[in-house]
Amino acid sequence: MIEICEVGPRDGLQNEGKIVPSETKVELITRLMDAGIRNIEAVSFVNPKVVPPMADAEEVLKSLPKRENVRYGGLVLSRSGLERALKTDVGFLHIVTATSDSFNLRNAKRTVEQAVGELSLVIKEGAASGKGVAGVLGTAFGCPFEGEVPLENVLKAAEKFLEAGCTEITLADTTGMANPIQVQKVVNSFFDIFGKDLTLGLHFHNTRGLGLANVLAGYQAGVRRFDSSIAGLGGCPFAPKAVGNVCTEDMINMFHGMGEETGADLPSVLETAKWMETVMERPLDGMLMKAGIA
Ligand code: ZN
Repeated sequence: MIEICEVGPRDGLQNEGKIVPSETKVELITRLMDAGIRNIEAVSFVNPKVVPPMADAEEVLKSLPKRENVRYGGLVLSRSGLERALKTDVGFLHIVTATSDSFNLRNAKRTVEQAVGELSLVIKEGAASGKGVAGVLGTAFGCPFEGEVPLENVLKAAEKFLEAGCTEITLADTTGMANPIQVQKVVNSFFDIFGKDLTLGLHFHNTRGLGLANVLAGYQAGVRRFDSSIAGLGGCPFAPKAVGNVCTEDMINMFHGMGEETGADLPSVLETAKWMETVMERPLDGMLMKAGIA
């Protein structure tokens, strides 16, 4: 069974020029749940001045229907983000740092070591509140400013995050630099060091067309959780030339074709992707929308 973590409402919409109203975000998330997706990164508690499309996190969470077996996640990048998140009923905190110093200094004005130190306290406090805490390590497969990111830096950050109380780790290819062989190597190292029971997620961007190839490589190395974005929405406003995440319906189609269950109803997801194009008023990147289900 594959677990999809839908990041369209967060990673997707934060990089769109058009700001989508809160009620449309709520409709999107509701449609995704109705289509069988159970893990949704719904909001980001980032500074609204820095990322205006995410300013309505509290508003969105308040309006979301409560469903059993559905998990809502919210991105937290700092202590102030944590303080906001703790005042809401968001179920999971997704605590994020990049793993390259250049990326981190540019976007968070601190080195990786400083960020990991500060965020470890945020993780402890988040875990103590009773919420779930997941660690997300960005630029894990390469940095647009410094190129290769040594694997030991990524492993070290993961170790600190797990020690602080994260129960799961997601490795994010923030700017689409990963390749399938590298993905296998990185995943193998994670399972070797942290054990096969580690809940490991992968987050790929399709920037260079390798999104699904990287998902498959991660799957073959034993990963069963993948982030994706409806219709291929997405990117990162801080990363040069970032384009959308791996497209949710294209990924579901791949897994279903391979005989792997995802719990999602593909025709309903596809309908939602098409609806999303009308919302964004521009063609989106998903391929299945154009070709149809075979
Ligand atoms: Zn991303």
